[in-house]
Amino acid sequence: MKRNENHLQHLNLPRQKIRAMTIIAACMMAVCIITATVLMHLINLVLQDQTQQYLGEISNQCRATIEKQIEGDLLTVQAASAFFDETLDEETIVSRLQAENNRNPFVRMAFVNRDYQATIVDLDGSIYLGQDVSDQPVVQHAMAGELSLSDIGSDRFSADDVVIYATPVTNNAQEIIGVMTASRKVDSFSAIIQQPLFGTHGLNLVVRQNGDIVLAVDDILQQKANFFEEIAFDGVTYQALQQAVQSGSSYTFSFTDDGQKYWGTLGPLSYNDWYLVSVVPASYINQGYRQMMFVFVATTLLLILVFTSLLLYTSHIRYASTQKIEHLAYYDDITGTYNTNKFMELAAEQLSRDKNYTLVLLDLHGFKFINASFGFAVGDRLLRGVASILARALGPDELYYHRFADQFGFLLHTQDMQEIRTRVTDIMDAVSAFELIPGESHPIHCYCGIKINQMFSDNLNVGLLQDRAAAALHQVKNLHGNHYAFYDHALLERAQYKNTVEQHMHAALQGHEFIAYLQPKYDLRTERIVSAEALVRWRKPDGSLVPPGNFIPIFEQNGFITQLDLYILEEVCRYQRAWLDAGLPIVPISVNQSRLLFYQEHYLETVHALVAKYALDPKYIILEITESLATNNADEITAVISGLHQMGFSLSMDDFGAGYSSLNLLRELAIDELKLDRDFLSDGAQDARSQVILHSIIDLARQLHITTVCEGIETRAQADQLRDLGCDIAQGYFFSRPIDAEAFAKLAYSGPE
Ligand code: C2E
Ligand code: MG
Ligand code: MG
Repeated sequence: MKRNENHLQHLNLPRQKIRAMTIIAACMMAVCIITATVLMHLINLVLQDQTQQYLGEISNQCRATIEKQIEGDLLTVQAASAFFDETLDEETIVSRLQAENNRNPFVRMAFVNRDYQATIVDLDGSIYLGQDVSDQPVVQHAMAGELSLSDIGSDRFSADDVVIYATPVTNNAQEIIGVMTASRKVDSFSAIIQQPLFGTHGLNLVVRQNGDIVLAVDDILQQKANFFEEIAFDGVTYQALQQAVQSGSSYTFSFTDDGQKYWGTLGPLSYNDWYLVSVVPASYINQGYRQMMFVFVATTLLLILVFTSLLLYTSHIRYASTQKIEHLAYYDDITGTYNTNKFMELAAEQLSRDKNYTLVLLDLHGFKFINASFGFAVGDRLLRGVASILARALGPDELYYHRFADQFGFLLHTQDMQEIRTRVTDIMDAVSAFELIPGESHPIHCYCGIKINQMFSDNLNVGLLQDRAAAALHQVKNLHGNHYAFYDHALLERAQYKNTVEQHMHAALQGHEFIAYLQPKYDLRTERIVSAEALVRWRKPDGSLVPPGNFIPIFEQNGFITQLDLYILEEVCRYQRAWLDAGLPIVPISVNQSRLLFYQEHYLETVHALVAKYALDPKYIILEITESLATNNADEITAVISGLHQMGFSLSMDDFGAGYSSLNLLRELAIDELKLDRDFLSDGAQDARSQVILHSIIDLARQLHITTVCEGIETRAQADQLRDLGCDIAQGYFFSRPIDAEAFAKLAYSGPE
């Protein structure tokens, strides 16, 4: 059988609790993560906004710088143009061009006449005459009177990328007589747009209205031809960009290129249809944001961790202290097993699921003696020993507990009588075999009370089950050795009845609820009343009469009989005194005396005082003692009996022949009357042998001058037969039942009506 783990020590948090706490922690984490995400999103938005603004500002500055440069260059060219008119010869033009060119950063300058014939000088000294530049739009625009700037293009004579400035040259009449041009290497623009933007992370580029890239310094972008078409803008951004370039306004946007997200801003330059685009990778902006978030999330997680640990710790402490309290409330200190409270709770649960159980209570014999002789440590060891025997003997679906002191209880998962017997006997044998002191033999005995659970009642009551097992236990309490008893209902009723009687007996005696009835005794020859026997009745407040058989045995057990007997004796004295006082002749009355009275210290004095109190002659009082008392025949008892006799009381031997009567008694005890038991009148009385014995006893008594009384005469035939056998007195229903004192007085003093 699997070992019964009856007293699990719950020292750690139970799974349920841990699950609940994990859920709480998870919820908290979820809340924190959601909060963090929302917060991150908000911060991101703010950061984006700021970045866009910053990007816009830097882009504007850059645009302004480019425009300033162009404007400056154009002014330079314009200023130089003032030195030219249509009157100059070629040589002068060349020398003036050279002089101007040396003063400015242009790589080349040219004067174009109305016929689009250009005189060109390079910074390196090369001179080109009569060059046709009619195909150049920038020259055409200038010829039309505009200050113009060309697109970036390859230089006419070198491979360098250049821009060409062109300004109209006018005479004094403000007529356009030609165009002055100046070429500048594009590097100067590159230097501007190359200025640091967000460190080295951002970049600028110049595009045309249609998206064609005019100027880019970034390697990747340089390879692209059209910014709008070669970048994967989403539809909305693309449209917005188009609108912005159409209306010549600025616009901020984002795009993804080559898996990388960028933020960009686009703003128009005042020359050509150029736009400056400034771009920064989103990752750069996110970088700070990510760092911030990392710190934020890490702090949050750390806080949650600390909080959860604290929560767990405090829960653990609280749980541990609850456990401790619970342990004190539900577990037995010595054995560590469940106590009655816990058992009741668990058993109720178990029995509500499955009724097929039997409760057994086990008690140890002589436990007090073990404690007293070997010390409490040994006693405790024995209790723990019993607990572990039960733990081994019981299955996982069975329970045991330490009820109190040396009493244990356990539930067996069976109702099969034979199985119960075997298992209970095995357990008791194991307890008996327990080695109280190693190496020494001190057999321990125990006893069990067994109650099988009600299979067909829904009225589940573990307390009742326990009470009934306890009642069964009580049955075998006084037997020696190992014994068990199954509960039976009559047994409990007796116990309950006894309990009620004991609760009420004192008050009943005080309240005169005990009444001495009198049963007349008749002379068999004259058939007249010669005496009577006082027989107690308990008259309940409701008027009902309880016969002595229902309470005398209980009083015999608890000793109360001595008080009752003396009370009845006094009642009888009171009756006799009353009759005497009424001038009536006195009738001797027998009073039953329990053998317990004879062990009382001042019994003789007490009865003496009683008759003295009522001024009665003791010879009219017959004290009935039982045969069993006489058979004990200890010296002290014999002394008391003869003491009573000497005082003048008559003594009667009651129920003679009911037990193992000894004729010796008649010799040894000074008795005056022999009451032959009713049994002589039963069927046996017909038996010839019984007749002979009865006859002999009566004969013997007569010779010893002992009066013979026959009890329980119910028929005329019995009366006649006993008279013929020589019996003196008869008592029985045939003559009269026990009646109250008033009725008796009527009967005795006025005769039957
Ligand atoms: P007991 O002293 O042998 O009393 C005789 C019993 O036989 C009485 O029972 C009586 O009612 C009954 N009896 C008398 N005639 C007949 C008959 O013809 N047929 C049958 N069947 N029974 C008859 P009761 O009154 O129930 O008393 C029973 C016993 O209780 C008494 O037996 C006596 O031992 C005890 N008892 C009664 N009163 C007292 C008392 O005050 N003190 C003590 N210590 N014991 C008492
Ligand atoms: Mg009697
Ligand atoms: Mg009797």
